[in-house]
Formats: sequence, structure tokens, C-alpha cells
Amino acid sequence: MDTFESANILIVDDLPENLIALEALIRRDDLVVYPAASGEAALTLLLEHEFALAILDVQMPGMNGFELAELMRSTGRTRRIPIVFVSAAGRELNHAFKGYEAGAVDFLHKPLDGYAVRSKVAVFVDMYRQRSAMGRQVEALEQSRREQQALLEKLNAAQLDLERAVKMRDDFMSVVAHELRTPLNTLFLETQLRRMQIERGNLAAFTPEQLGKMVARDDRQIRNMVRLIDDMLDVSRIRSGTLSVRPAQVELAGLLRRVIDDLEQQALAVGSCITLHAPQPVEGRWDEFRIEQVVVNLLTNALRYGGGKPVEVGLSATPEGARIEVRDHGIGISEQDQQRIFQQFERGGGGKSADGLGLGLYITRQLVEAHGGKISVHSAPGEGSIFRLDLPQG
Ligand code: ADP
Repeated sequence: MDTFESANILIVDDLPENLIALEALIRRDDLVVYPAASGEAALTLLLEHEFALAILDVQMPGMNGFELAELMRSTGRTRRIPIVFVSAAGRELNHAFKGYEAGAVDFLHKPLDGYAVRSKVAVFVDMYRQRSAMGRQVEALEQSRREQQALLEKLNAAQLDLERAVKMRDDFMSVVAHELRTPLNTLFLETQLRRMQIERGNLAAFTPEQLGKMVARDDRQIRNMVRLIDDMLDVSRIRSGTLSVRPAQVELAGLLRRVIDDLEQQALAVGSCITLHAPQPVEGRWDEFRIEQVVVNLLTNALRYGGGKPVEVGLSATPEGARIEVRDHGIGISEQDQQRIFQQFERGGGGKSADGLGLGLYITRQLVEAHGGKISVHSAPGEGSIFRLDLPQG
């Protein structure tokens, strides 16, 4: 406990000589004594300072000591200040002080005995100091409880984040493993079958036409696996913040034409075709490889979910840069799914037949944003979809 903390004592008496005598009696280095010549003056001081003790003369003209004490007891700020009444005669002590039960009250008799006064003051000042030390301890405890609570909340949130991250990683691993198994199984079965046919000498199964088909099938499975692995690598680059774009001069109409040509067979396979509307060349600085990846993603989806209907690609120059639109006339995407499909592992309600991890659009959006661009979708169920890409000049 800090014993050097000074404590305030209020003394109230209408006679100045009494105030001087009392002050002289209780003067101590660690006390500040405030004299008041009336109840009113005392109330003013009570509002301005915090007191360890009030010593009130009972007999005063105007507001007497008991009335002042009653007022003090009726106010929160002064209710707990211990009061010592100074009275001239035993008669006054019978006065029923209404606020008695609300706090410490004691009495001193005139003529004042120096020793009695000093020891009473010492007791009340000690009590006051203990109380304020306890208050500080309680406040410190409360503060550390609040800090612990805040820490606990932080820890809980961190644990939740961690659990979510671990679960996401586990989900990711199991989805990837599952998705890789499908093309691997197919390849494995194909090789088993071929070995069997070779062992049986059935070379008729390896005509040039059959071989061509086999190679095409193998090629498809291998491409599927390569795509999955590339997607995984991109996701881990996105997560670690190392996905970068390397802009160089690109002409988009030519790029789109190339991508569309490459996907011609895939479009034919689902009974669709892709047309390009690019009235003029659009040049700028973008990462050609990444833009190609974005367009391939959008076109593959358009073929997958396009219901075999034609797919249209549009290119136009905008004041900011370029706009590419990929439009299909397939199953469309509900309002609710439009919010989700750009997130990791999110696959829309209509994606039953699709293979893939639900990463394509997530990666697409990250790539577009890495170019400082925007991607948006406009769609309604059954009415097809338009994916719009706005790329600012690099
Ligand atoms: P994936 O195709 O591997 O599932 P994507 O991230 O490319 O992953 O797409 C997420 C989901 O968005 C798909 O599962 C599908 O439900 C929906 N989607 C994407 N493109 C289209 C489209 N053109 N038409 C309808 N739905 C689409």
C-alpha cells in the first residue's frame, strides 16, 4: 500500500477559532485539511474533492451537522465518507441521525482531547487507504480479467481459423486425390487391356485407326491430370501470394482466335461451335499465357454447361482497355450460385455432370484481378450465361 498518498480531511465548524484549533490538532504531513465555516461551504468542497473523513460540528447556525450529514448520505458521491460529529453536550448525541446505517459514524466531545482526535483520524485515514488500495486491486484484477478474456477470444478465433484451414487443406487433398484417381484409373485400365491383347496376339486391336483413338483418349486423360495439377499449383501460388503476371504486348483478337481453334474438337464433341465477334484488333500489355488460361476456363465452362448450343465470344476496345465476353445458351446460373462460383471448391447446382475441382473460376478471378481487371457474370437459370471480363490497359 502506498502510505505516502495524501488523504483529504474535511472539517466543518461555524467558529473560525475552532477550525484553527482542530486543524492544528490533526495536522500531519500526509493529510490535507479543508476547513469549511458552514454546511453550504462544506457541500461545495465535497463536490470538488474526495475526502477520507469529514469532521462536523453538530451545532451550527443554518444547516447543522446532522442536516449536512443527511445530505451527504443522500448523494452517491459523498455517501461513503465516514463522519465524526463534534458535540458540546451528551444531549445532542441522542439525535436520531437518519443516515447512520449508511456508513461509518463516530463522535467526539468538546472540549476536544488531542489524543482521541488524532487516533480517530488515524483509524479513518487507514480505513480509507485500505479501501482505496483494495479498489485499485479490484480494478487491476478486473483489468487483467478483461485482458485475459480478450486474449481467450483471440485464441479461440485463431483456433477456429486454424481448424478451418486444416479442414480446407484436408478437403482439398481428398478432392484432388479423388479427381486424379479418375483419369489415372482410366489410363490404368486401358494399359491393362492393351497388355492383355498383346499377350493374346490380338493385333487387330491396334489398327492405325484404333491406335489414333487410343492416343486421343490417353491424351484427354493426361490433359485432365495436367490441368488438375496446374490448378493446384495456381491455388497454392494464390494462397502464398506469389501468383504473378508478366505483361507483354498482346493482341487479343488473335489470341482469342487461337484459343477457339484449339477448342474446336472439344466443341464438336458436345455438338457445339464457338464463334468470335472481334471487329478490330485490341492491343495492350497483358500476360498472354494467363489471359489464355482465363479464356480457356470460361470457354470450357461454356461448353460444359452450354447444353450443346453455340457459344459466342465478343471482343471490344473500351476507354480503359479491353472487354471480352463469353456467352452460352445453356443451363444458366441462379442468383444465389452467382455469388459462390468464384470461391474455392464452389460448384453450382447445375454442375452435376462436370468434372473439375470447382477451382476454375476462383483461379480465373484471381488472374483477372492480378491484371487489375474485373470479372462479372450475368445469368439466369435456363437462359444461359455471359461472363464479362474487363481488362485495363497494362
Ligand atoms: P468446375 O467447372 O471445375 O466445377 P469452376 O470454378 O470453373 O469449377 O465453376 C464453378 C461452378 O460454376 C461450376 O461447377 C458450375 O456450376 C458453375 N458454372 C461455371 N460456368 C458456368 C456456365 N457457363 N454455365 C452454368 N454454370 C456455370
